[in-house]
Amino acid sequence: TTPAAGTLGGELRDAALAALSRIGAEVPAAGDGGLPVVSPLTGEALLTVPEAGRAEVDAAISAAAEAFRTWRSVPGPVRGGVVRRLGELLTEHKADLAELVTIEAGKITSEALGEVQEMIDVCDYAVGLSRSLGGRTMPSERPGHRLMEQWHPLGVVGVVSAFNFPVAVWSWNTAVALVCGDTVVWKPSEKTPLSALASNALLRRALVEAGFPEAVSTVVLGAREAGEALVADRQVALLSATGSERMGQQVAPVVAGRGGRYLLELGGNNAAVVAPSADLDLAVRGIVFAAAGTAGQRCTSLRRLIVHSSVVDDLVGRLRSVYAGLPVGDPRADGTLVGPLTDAGARARMLAALEEARADGGTVVVGGEAVDVDGAPGAAYVSPALVRMPAQTDVVRRETFAPILYVLTYDTLEEAIELHNDVPQGLSSAIFTLDVREAETFLSEVGSDCGIVNVNIGTSGAEIGGAFGGEKSTGGGRESGSDSWKQYMRRVTNTVNYSTELPLAQGVNFG
Ligand code: NAD
Repeated sequence: TTPAAGTLGGELRDAALAALSRIGAEVPAAGDGGLPVVSPLTGEALLTVPEAGRAEVDAAISAAAEAFRTWRSVPGPVRGGVVRRLGELLTEHKADLAELVTIEAGKITSEALGEVQEMIDVCDYAVGLSRSLGGRTMPSERPGHRLMEQWHPLGVVGVVSAFNFPVAVWSWNTAVALVCGDTVVWKPSEKTPLSALASNALLRRALVEAGFPEAVSTVVLGAREAGEALVADRQVALLSATGSERMGQQVAPVVAGRGGRYLLELGGNNAAVVAPSADLDLAVRGIVFAAAGTAGQRCTSLRRLIVHSSVVDDLVGRLRSVYAGLPVGDPRADGTLVGPLTDAGARARMLAALEEARADGGTVVVGGEAVDVDGAPGAAYVSPALVRMPAQTDVVRRETFAPILYVLTYDTLEEAIELHNDVPQGLSSAIFTLDVREAETFLSEVGSDCGIVNVNIGTSGAEIGGAFGGEKSTGGGRESGSDSWKQYMRRVTNTVNYSTELPLAQGVNFG
C-alpha cells in the first residue's frame, strides 16, 4: 500500500516524484495490479507503476525494429551527436538521477553520483567512437583485388539489467549501441523502474530534439516475464543481460536456440591476494571500499581475501577496527558509508550464509548483524561481516550478494592462485604486493583467471575505458570500453575484383 504523505515513505515518494518532474519524466498511472516501487531505505512501497504485458513488450520490440530501419542509415557522427546531448542532459540532471538511484537502489549519495558520472563518461567515450569505428583492409592473395571488412549496425539490442547498477549498465550498452546504429529496448530491474524511466526520458528528449523517433530507445517495466519476452523474440539481435548466474543460465540457451547473440554480465566472487610485501595501509583502504562499499552489492564486490600467513593477523586486526567503525544507515545522510541491503530476503540470505560459515568452522571476527535504523523498521540494514575461514568451503565458493568478506590464508603464491581460481565465477581480482615478480605472475596466463585483474587496487570501481566483464559462470561478456563495440555490430568481409581476370582463391582451376 502507498503510505500517506507525511510518513517517511511519503517523504521519499515526494522526493522521487519531484526528481522525476525536474527531469521531465512521466510516471504512467498503474491500473489494477502493477509493480510496487519499494525503497530499501525504509522497506516501504512508495508508489505503483504499470507492468508491461507480453503484448506491450512485443509492440516495443516491433517499434524498435521499425526505428532501426531509419536509424541504421543515420551517419555515425550524427548518432554520436544524440549521445553527446544525452551526456549533457545527464550532467544537468546528475543530482536528480542520483537521488532516484539512492531511493531505489539504496546507494550512498557519493556512489549514486558516481554511477551517473559513469553514464556521462560512457557517453563521452561513445561520441569518440562515433567518429572512429572502423574496419581493416587485408592484403588479398589475388592481383587486382581488395579484401576488406566493414562493420554495420546489428539491429535491436535488448538490455536486461540488475537492481544494483540501475542506470549505468543501461548507459554502457545504450551509448555504444546507439552510435553503432542499433536501437534499444530496456527491461530494467523490477526494483528500479523510476531510475529507468528518468534515464530514458533524457535520451528520448535528446532524440526528439534532433528529429529522431522516440522508439530508438524504449523502456518496458516488469519482472522476469517481461525479460523473458525480450529474450525469446527473434527480432532482438543482441540480448545484453546483467544479473545473477541463475538468470544467465536461463537466458543463454533460449537466445542461442533462436540463433541470437547474447552478452552476459553475471555474478562474481571476487578475491584479493595480500602478499607479504603488501603496503597494508593502502591494502586496508582498497579492501574496505571493495568489500563494504555499496553494502557488498556490486558484482565486483570483494568477497574473498587470500592472505599470506605472515601478515594475516596484522591485516585482520586492522580490518577489524575499521569495520567496527563503519557508519551504517540512511544513505542520504552525510558520513554514511554503508546503506541498506535491497530487501529482507537479501538480509536473510546473508545471515544464513554466516550460519553456514560458522558450521564450516569459520569465525565471524566483526559485524554480520542486523542493524535497526530509526524510522525504517521494514528496511534491511546490516553491519558488514569479516569472517575467518579454515578452508574455501561451499559457502565461500558461492556469491552471497551482501557484505561478507571471507579470509583465507596461504603460504606460496601457487597455493594462493589455486585458491583464487577455484570458484565457479571469474569476474574481478586483485593482488596487493610490492614484488614485481608476484604481480606479473598474477597478471599472467598462470595467474588470475578473471576478466579484470588489478594490482594494488581493490576489485571494484572499474573505469569505462577498459572492457568490463568476466569468465566462467560470470558469462564471458565484455561491455563498455576497448573493442566491446564490436558486439553491437555485424562484421562484413568484402572482396572486390577491379581487374579484368577472375583468379580463384587457393589457386583453384575451374575449367
Ligand atoms: P537477477 O538475476 O535477480 O535479475 C536481473 C535482471 O534479470 C532483472 O531485470 C530480472 O527481472 C531479470 N530476469 C531474471 N530472470 C530472468 C529470466 N529468466 N529471463 C529474463 N530476465 C530475467 O539479479 P539482481 O538481484 O537484480 O542483481 C544482482 C546480481 O546481478 C548479482 O548476481 C550480481 O553479481 C549481478 N550483477 C552482475 C554485473 C556484471 O556486470 N557482471 C553487474 C551488476 C550485477
